[in-house]
Amino acid sequence: MRIDVLTLFPEMFSGPLDASIIKRAREKGLLTVNLVDIRDFSQDKHRRVDDYPYGGGPGMILKPEPVFRAVEFLLGGAARRPPIILLSPQGEVFNQALAVELSREDWLVLLCGHYEGVDERIRTHLVTREVSIGDYILTGGELPAMVIIDAVARLLPGAVGAEEGPWEDSFTWGILEYPQYTRPRSFRGLEVPEVLLSGDHEKIRIWRRKKALERTLLRRPDLLEKAPLTEEDRRLLDECVKEKGKMV
Ligand code: SAM
Repeated sequence: MRIDVLTLFPEMFSGPLDASIIKRAREKGLLTVNLVDIRDFSQDKHRRVDDYPYGGGPGMILKPEPVFRAVEFLLGGAARRPPIILLSPQGEVFNQALAVELSREDWLVLLCGHYEGVDERIRTHLVTREVSIGDYILTGGELPAMVIIDAVARLLPGAVGAEEGPWEDSFTWGILEYPQYTRPRSFRGLEVPEVLLSGDHEKIRIWRRKKALERTLLRRPDLLEKAPLTEEDRRLLDECVKEKGKMV
């Protein structure tokens, strides 16, 4: 997968791109991240890329020319357009389903806004999608772009070893993940649940599924409304509700 990132601060990406799974994915050739400095496309002799908002008001606005020029340069003579995604607090909220959807693309362009925001014509005539990482305001789109690159990179086939199992993670199947334990078996008198030591795979599967459902019920009941639940899940949830004396 190729990801082009248009940013005013390419230097911000060096830490996250050079560690852990993203680093490995890049080294294995699964992921290429191309950092593009929007200022390189300014025609202003001072490399200015922002200007005052028409109509007055606070802050500066990212100008359309350098951003259009940067995207046009990237697309060149390409036969098809990749998704051109503006990181924006006004966009659809990023989640695991969107990470999976984007991981199936072979080329993405991420546009990081800065200052007070971007000229509206970038929104209406250049980008194909706007994505937010949550209902709060950050200084720029760089951290959101890194969040998306991280979430997408770990889903690329071969990026994460089978033993790290990204398909067991929370949200992948619509609910939170079950509790995990590792050695030692007994730590300061706190014991690992007996069932996990039993070697009975079916019992372990059911215990994990029930704990995942119980945890989701307690922490994120909203997820259960959309999660694809089986008959077994509903039975296990009923048991959780009875055990906890709670209403679904
Ligand atoms: N005035 C803008 C508004 O109210 O929508 C916010 C501008 S914000 C200070 C500057 C840039 O940071 C945005 O253009 C966007 O690229 C990025 N940004 C800020 N918060 C974000 C979020 N929650 N998700 C994605 N991008 C965000």
